[in-house]
Amino acid sequence: MKIKWDPKILENCKYPVYLGVTLDRTLYFKKHTNKLKEKLFNRNNLLRKLANLKQTALTLCNLTAEYCIPVWARKDWVALNRARTKVGRTGDNLADGRLSDNAACLCEKQTQTMDHILQGCTLGPSCSNEDLLEANDAALQWTLWWRDKI
Ligand SMILES: [Zn+2]
Repeated sequence: MKIKWDPKILENCKYPVYLGVTLDRTLYFKKHTNKLKEKLFNRNNLLRKLANLKQTALTLCNLTAEYCIPVWARKDWVALNRARTKVGRTGDNLADGRLSDNAACLCEKQTQTMDHILQGCTLGPSCSNEDLLEANDAALQWTLWWRDKI
């Protein structure tokens, strides 16, 4: 069917867009959902890159903070800073960075996060974020236990 609008003949459009929604003849909205999926995928990629950027910035800060500390205390200082900034080599961080397929903790908790090893893990001592900031005895005990593991 040909429809004429003034001098022009209007062309048939298989997937017209109306108010931002891509329509189709059957109204299954498959084309619209595919476009939406692609849009969300791109935005998720951007968010993932921004999250990695934050982690990179924290790592650079840690490297700067760790520069020139005495060698004998380096491991402890590194572990303490990793715990403070939550960027240690925990199961979930390794899995996020695709360095490991398994995010589980050795205590068999499904996901080993920094918060888990700070306060929920049965394998080692507990420590609060405040302890880490104060670098008190609880933080020292925690650091001695986890420094070679994270
Ligand atoms: Zn655990």
